[in-house]
Amino acid sequence: MSLSRKAVLSVAGNRLVTALVSKYGMKLGASRFVAGETLDEAIEAVKKLNAEGLLVTLDHLGESVSNREDALAATQAVIDIYDAIEKHGVRSNVSVKLTQLGLDIDPDFCLENMDRITSKAKEMNNFVRIDMEDSPRVQMTIDIFNTLVERYGKEHIGLVIQSYLYRSHGDVAELGKRKINLRIVKGAYKEPPEVAFPDKKDVDENYVKLVKMHLNNGSYTAIATHDEQIIDHLKTWLKENQIPNNLYEFQMLFGVRSGLQKKLVSEGYKVRVYTPYGKDWYSYFTRRIAERPANALFVIKNLFQK
Ligand code: FAD
Repeated sequence: MSLSRKAVLSVAGNRLVTALVSKYGMKLGASRFVAGETLDEAIEAVKKLNAEGLLVTLDHLGESVSNREDALAATQAVIDIYDAIEKHGVRSNVSVKLTQLGLDIDPDFCLENMDRITSKAKEMNNFVRIDMEDSPRVQMTIDIFNTLVERYGKEHIGLVIQSYLYRSHGDVAELGKRKINLRIVKGAYKEPPEVAFPDKKDVDENYVKLVKMHLNNGSYTAIATHDEQIIDHLKTWLKENQIPNNLYEFQMLFGVRSGLQKKLVSEGYKVRVYTPYGKDWYSYFTRRIAERPANALFVIKNLFQK
């Protein structure tokens, strides 16, 4: 991990910084990466993205929940998203984080909450993707995912794999045996060299390797990156290898490389925008700044604008 990324993530953990950014953050720039604080605002954002030919995955922000009440409220909030999608006829699925649904309280309780969400996704003929969080939670996340696939089948649920982890090659091989729908990302958390490649070059190389491996296996792959070099390389590879276009989609984050998102749509690719909303946007926002410290300049600029 780069020094600047480490520094941003450490500063972000500071209490004073947390308090200040939480109070003024939306004005400072979080609204560039977050579609609003309410579901209604998020649905309006989805309508605009859909009108541009972009698909969406909605994420009700929140993570590291430490009491059952909050986890149950978060579960209900996700269920409400499916109803809103249906009501407004928008093209979107949903992404969730297990620590928001009680993973750190009790994995069985989290599974119960995911049971409700997955059965709702199935009932609405929609889809839920479980985001991947930091490395101590990876195995628990995969275990819960596997149980849900046993209970509901694999049509309505997918998982995320991070190319910075050494273990991911084995995980993709294993999940590929059941042709699981995977989103492949580089990974957004601060991880030690014991579990993750410290050099970005290795993370990038492994990224391309994992995407090709999963597609060669005939498994649906969400190629989630803003890395234009990697995207260009994969576009050529997809063509050369005649990978059918119903086997993959590109995914990017709301507010990041919007021009590139539209360019891919104009070239005929399926593109989905990960669109977070909600009051609990602080951790998500700081990870976006850490990925690209130039984004901090954008925040500082907003400080001086009326
Ligand atoms: P990088 O090498 O970091 O960036 C490549 C280029 O993209 C940069 O040079 C820059 O031009 C642009 N760029 C990248 N980030 C930004 C930014 N914040 N602002 C502006 N420009 C930027 N991570 C997880 O750990 N778990 C998940 O479940 C997860 N889900 C994700 C879902 C989606 C749809 C996406 C797109 C990412 C997700 N991530 C997740 C985050 C991911 O792991 C990376 O941290 C993030 O995508 C940045 O890496 P990159 O692939 O874009 O490549």
